[in-house]
Amino acid sequence: MMTNDPLLHPLLDGDRRALSRAITLVESTRPDHRDRAMALLAALPDRQALRIGLSGTPGVGKSSFIEAFGMMLTGQGLRVAVLAVDPSSTRSGGSILGDKTRMERLSRDPRAFIRPSPSSAVLGGVARRTREAIRLCEAAGHDVVLVETVGVGQSEVLVAGMTDLFVLLLAPAGGDELQGVKRGIMEVADLILVNKADGELLAPARRTVADYAGALRLLRKRPQDPDGFPKALPVSALTGDGLTRAWDEMRALADWRRETGHQDRARAAQAQDWFTAELRAALLARLQTPEAKAQVAALGARVAAGALPPALAAQQVLDWLDGT
Ligand code: GDP
Repeated sequence: MMTNDPLLHPLLDGDRRALSRAITLVESTRPDHRDRAMALLAALPDRQALRIGLSGTPGVGKSSFIEAFGMMLTGQGLRVAVLAVDPSSTRSGGSILGDKTRMERLSRDPRAFIRPSPSSAVLGGVARRTREAIRLCEAAGHDVVLVETVGVGQSEVLVAGMTDLFVLLLAPAGGDELQGVKRGIMEVADLILVNKADGELLAPARRTVADYAGALRLLRKRPQDPDGFPKALPVSALTGDGLTRAWDEMRALADWRRETGHQDRARAAQAQDWFTAELRAALLARLQTPEAKAQVAALGARVAAGALPPALAAQQVLDWLDGT
């Protein structure tokens, strides 16, 4: 698709303001903005970054890790984008990346781009915006796109469904912590990093790594894993210990998946899921207009009164939608 959008060329040249504005555009729900966003997205070339999902409950050291890890990557000449999926932002009004003091050094790094999560959005809306923002960050020439989320279960599975690798960040803890990580999250993790493996926490961190390594071995072997994965490793965002190793492991896994075709297959499946999610959202949106709601309410009342079979009522709504 052709577009003469003035954002396109600066975006492709890596201009950070253009990237910011393009993300604001894809976050907008205004119909004219939506049209413009779709034309812009359709015009993007197929540049691919390594997409890494990262999750961890508040306090495990996510921002410290992203800052240290991100600085290590930019130090190697790589360009890094950080996006956040924050399902809690609707409730708290704040966001996990909203605090300006987070990742202060990384945010000043010209090779890094950090985008706070939108201040209010439902999870489904956040998903669309994040997928589109990932595409924009790739088009802007980033080598690595980190998608961060808080550990609440649903958002991890969502983020794992839009990234190439999924990293779970944990803190050292006692033996009962294992149960605290939901099985669904363990199943989508490719790498478990136990942070704060330094000073007095080094020994507990090593024990936690061993516990998780044991738990990971009990999971069913997935076709997208080479031998030894998923893996658990210790890291310290504070001292930087283990960060190079973690990056080496991520690259080894990503390279293997690329060479074996798993990455292309996963991305194709993700694109199809995205398509069906968009389709469902668009169909549901047609039921949200005042006229549609009135139709549904009127027919619902007749169904409740026993005057109309439910299936027939549903069909009448669909017929009505077809006629509008
Ligand atoms: P977040 O809530 O997950 O983003 O966690 P933060 O990055 O804000 O870190 C929470 C606390 O853990 C802060 O007091 C950090 O200084 C501390 N912290 C983070 N990473 C490390 C680490 O590698 N080692 C140690 N000892 N403390 C850390």
